[in-house]
Amino acid sequence: MEGYIHSIESFGTLDGPGIRLVVFFQGCPMRCVYCHNPDTWNIKASGKIDSDEILKIYEKNKSFYKDGGITATGGEPLLQIDFLTELFEKAKQKSIHTCLDTSGAVFNESKTSIEKFDRLVSSTDLVILDIKHIDPDKHIKITGHKSENIIKFARYLDDKNKDIWIRHVVVPGLTDNEDEIEKLGCFVAALKNAVFVELLPYHSMGVKKYEALGLDYPLKGTEDMDKEKLEPLYAALKRGIKKGKNNTN
Ligand code: SF4
Repeated sequence: MEGYIHSIESFGTLDGPGIRLVVFFQGCPMRCVYCHNPDTWNIKASGKIDSDEILKIYEKNKSFYKDGGITATGGEPLLQIDFLTELFEKAKQKSIHTCLDTSGAVFNESKTSIEKFDRLVSSTDLVILDIKHIDPDKHIKITGHKSENIIKFARYLDDKNKDIWIRHVVVPGLTDNEDEIEKLGCFVAALKNAVFVELLPYHSMGVKKYEALGLDYPLKGTEDMDKEKLEPLYAALKRGIKKGKNNTN
């Protein structure tokens, strides 16, 4: 089967454990104000690649990936769930570690969808789930989408005993409120399979892509965030996790 793929990075070290083949899927239903990949939004804006071709690329460099594997990111890989499932099932046949980096925005609980998600999840080793904002109204403001189904997706993965790595991009003035990060911590604490939580400092590297696409950059004037400024936010996250654990015990 062929899928719309934006690009492939051969030696990724940021999206999952070890060195990984990172496959950027084309297409995304969200419009996050801080998105640095607006060129992935339109699903038809790239060529198609067969899943076997992707695995051939993996095979070429496979000695590098022994502690890593394949990561599907984007864009939103779940928009092409059938292709993604085929890719991951073929990867598992070769004992390759599979990681899905997703916003969870397309999750829904219809019978047909759940069957597809069940099948995908059984060939997925790790899910990196981006929580854009823990407050439902602010989530809509930042992404243009409700967060309800994303929260449900996190719980669905947890019920499936899937390892979950939570990510949250910290944008000064938008997603850096300590109380809200603490709430995020409480939410994470209730997930028994959350193996890692990561706060990512905002950067404006996508600006040039907006210019090239003739789009206005929504965060014009927002400065990149220093990593050091994450310290109090990690402390807030830890407080939230502690509180959440106390509440569940
Ligand atoms: S979910 Fe990811 S790719 Fe989609 S708009 Fe948000 S940051 Fe961009």
